[in-house]
Amino acid sequence: MTKLELPEQPLSFWLVNKSHAIPTQILIVGGGIVGASTAWWLTKLGAKKSEITLIEADSIAKGATGQSIGAVYTGGIFPYTKLVKFVGEDAAKTVWQLSIENQILLKKEISHIPQTKDLIFNFSSFRSAKKGGIEIKEWEESFNVIEHLFPESRSKWISEREVAKLTGSNLLGGAFFTPLDFSLNPHKLAVILAEHSQVNVIRKEKVRFIEPKSNGLLVVGSNRRYIAQRVIVAANVHARSILPELNKVITPVRLEAFSTEKNINKLPGCWLISDAQLNITQYSSGEILVTGGGWQYESAVIPTLKSLPTATVQVSLEKNFFSIFKKFNKSRVLYRWAGIEGLTPNRLPVIDISELSENIVYTAGMSNYGFSLGFIFGKILAQWAIGKEELKIEKLRILKNDLRRRSVRST
Ligand SMILES: Cc1cc2nc3c(=O)[nH]c(=O)nc-3n(C[C@H](O)[C@H](O)[C@H](O)COP(=O)(O)OP(=O)(O)OC[C@H]3O[C@@H](n4cnc5c(N)ncnc54)[C@H](O)[C@@H]3O)c2cc1C
Repeated sequence: MTKLELPEQPLSFWLVNKSHAIPTQILIVGGGIVGASTAWWLTKLGAKKSEITLIEADSIAKGATGQSIGAVYTGGIFPYTKLVKFVGEDAAKTVWQLSIENQILLKKEISHIPQTKDLIFNFSSFRSAKKGGIEIKEWEESFNVIEHLFPESRSKWISEREVAKLTGSNLLGGAFFTPLDFSLNPHKLAVILAEHSQVNVIRKEKVRFIEPKSNGLLVVGSNRRYIAQRVIVAANVHARSILPELNKVITPVRLEAFSTEKNINKLPGCWLISDAQLNITQYSSGEILVTGGGWQYESAVIPTLKSLPTATVQVSLEKNFFSIFKKFNKSRVLYRWAGIEGLTPNRLPVIDISELSENIVYTAGMSNYGFSLGFIFGKILAQWAIGKEELKIEKLRILKNDLRRRSVRST
């Protein structure tokens, strides 16, 4: 007998209309880095804790945030010149500016929280690719532009020879070096931010839909209903099931990751090897964490490409890592895992006011910008929610407008 697969049970008309709705001024949906940062900023900016509710379908950092390796790159993971090709100069500049602000804010603000002492590692990053290839040229060209556009990023170009000394590998070209970057424990950061905000956190509550009513926004969860005056949807890839307008904009993408056992060989800083799809960081205790998923990104935005199976991606990542960084050859892989990320066609996050109501804002499709932009997005969303700043959203709409104008398929 074949088992019948049933879709998730929707709430009936009778249940939706019967139960009493819990009032709250500001409601945040999602407890990842964006939702937790928003809660933290709201209380920091003076909103009343008792009037803020954060609803999380599972537990804090259970989504992409908890799967991430927490590298915080200035400007994200693409060479600047490539980003300009994808989204145009204005959007690329906005991403860089915001990510620089995000880094400064993150370091400044969390250093006041006592539990964050052991949260940040490796204050520098290197972006490189194999010798002689097109990617290495893109990094070098990007360095030449960034050096002038964003001198505050203190970027440098590191020669092939220096890279070989640092990595013990003679396969890599030079490296685009940004000394202000770092890596952090992403799960712990989100949990600390949510706890410190002291807002009401409701776990194991999945928001099903939001409906504008005369007395506010009705937010229907799997257990209860809420009436809120302003709602922030920070559910990343899942935002599309709450706000139908995002359905065609966000595609789920799988990113693979692995960690090795502790190693006495040191790899300074965070490394991004773009043509080998590796994102590497070594914790101070010696374990190396690697993620990659660029192939999946490509298949999500180019319709003719097929997504690769998990095992194929994992094997390729491990093979690339051990062949480039030979000094780690003897390290065993201890854990393998994967997480689901949201991707937009132009590969940039979206942050905007919802078509459903001017009192709903959302962020989605954070892709690899979760930690490069998540904290500052939290600040912008909090400012909007307490009615302090309307215009910041305008500045960020550039990311979305660009999405409508351009087709990434032509790249
Ligand atoms: C393996 C891997 C490695 C990565 N490495 C990096 C990296 O090094 N650097 C970097 O910047 N980024 C990295 N990323 C991306 C980064 O993790 C994400 O961009 C970031 O965590 C997104 O944060 P978020 O708060 O938007 O979403 P999420 O962390 O996905 O949080 C959304 C939350 O909303 C909740 N939710 C969903 N639907 C509902 C609902 N209906 N009701 C209530 N709650 C709901 C989910 O349970 C989840 O907790 C990586 C991602 C993966 C998967």
